[in-house]
Amino acid sequence: MKPEREPAELCADCGKPALRHARVRSAFWHEDRLVVVEDIPALVCDSCHGQFYDDDTVTILDLIRGDGFPAEKARAELRVPVFSFSDKLSFRRGS
Ligand SMILES: [Zn+2]
Repeated sequence: MKPEREPAELCADCGKPALRHARVRSAFWHEDRLVVVEDIPALVCDSCHGQFYDDDTVTILDLIRGDGFPAEKARAELRVPVFSFSDKLSFRRGS
């Protein structure tokens, strides 16, 4: 992978000059399914780990979402562990 030009902007979240270009993956809820999109071009902050997409990327993500994430177009399938917030609440008193 060839290095891309480093951006000069400051992070919109933490204000530090720690942004770099990267390809990221992100999870989206689509109706009752959780789907993952890989290879999204983003600016990533090495300080606070914020991820920022430019307008073109947001538009393309909207188009992908509009396709409805058909299963036959998926590159791969992930098994995802599921946890409950309320499990932690019930353990809190006993620990
Ligand atoms: Zn930041």
